[in-house]
Amino acid sequence: EPLIRIDALSKQYKMGGETVHALSDITLRIDHGDFIAIIGPSGSGKSTLMNVIGCLDAPTSGTYWLDGEEVSRLRESRLAEIRNQKIGFIFQGFNLLNKLSALENVELPLIYRGVPGKLRKEQAVDALRKVGLEDRIGHRPSELSGGQQQRVAIARALAGNPPILLADEPTGALDTRTGVEVMALMKKLNQEGHTIVLITHDLQISEQARRVVRIQDGQISEEGGDSRSERQP
Ligand code: ADP
Ligand code: ADP
Repeated sequence: EPLIRIDALSKQYKMGGETVHALSDITLRIDHGDFIAIIGPSGSGKSTLMNVIGCLDAPTSGTYWLDGEEVSRLRESRLAEIRNQKIGFIFQGFNLLNKLSALENVELPLIYRGVPGKLRKEQAVDALRKVGLEDRIGHRPSELSGGQQQRVAIARALAGNPPILLADEPTGALDTRTGVEVMALMKKLNQEGHTIVLITHDLQISEQARRVVRIQDGQISEEGGDSRSERQP
């Protein structure tokens, strides 16, 4: 059973009298341990697909199964719980709270999940260690470089070990070299077993993933050869 199973999924927006077909008849499987990049130009439907996969928005039709549960028909309160439990979000702009330390930022999602204090701190330190920032846990975001801030945000996404990391243009605000370092970290996390879904418009970034899916006018097609053969045992 794949971690994500999307069947015949469509999303339309009503704009006055017009209907915008943002996603049309999408079928997609994502396995546990996958590292998939979804690439497409502006307006192709990336944000819409990201919002559906991230349980931020419901599709108009079709089905979406996430980790054994059909989420396409759920109401917002249950979707919020699923987001909290199953998805670690990574954004282009890091979205860290500037008044909090790196450690406190990483603890936040664990507070929402009701993880008690001592365990919470252990898990947050663990996540910061995984991204190589154990010596920066007391620093505030403004005291860190852009690449370090994104690593804190990745640690926050990792905290509590959700089944999926969902990254929306994670290198978009970074210079090329720092972006390459962040992608190297994502590859390492994938090799350690984390499932990663990456949304990007950048071909070079997408090539770091094991699988590349192209989205164009709301429709998808798989790219390239059988990158699955590169899978670690
Ligand atoms: P990105 O930079 O990720 O491509 P967009 O600029 O396409 O993002 O969209 C940013 C946000 O604005 C998205 O969350 C999307 O839902 C919303 N949006 C995009 N296009 C429209 C539109 N034509 N009307 C209303 N909202 C839109
Ligand atoms: P991308 O992220 O690849 O730029 P989006 O998913 O934001 O693409 O947009 C896909 C299409 O849906 C575009 O034509 C966009 O204008 C439209 N769209 C996105 N969000 C909205 C919205 N909230 N209302 C109306 N149209 C939207």
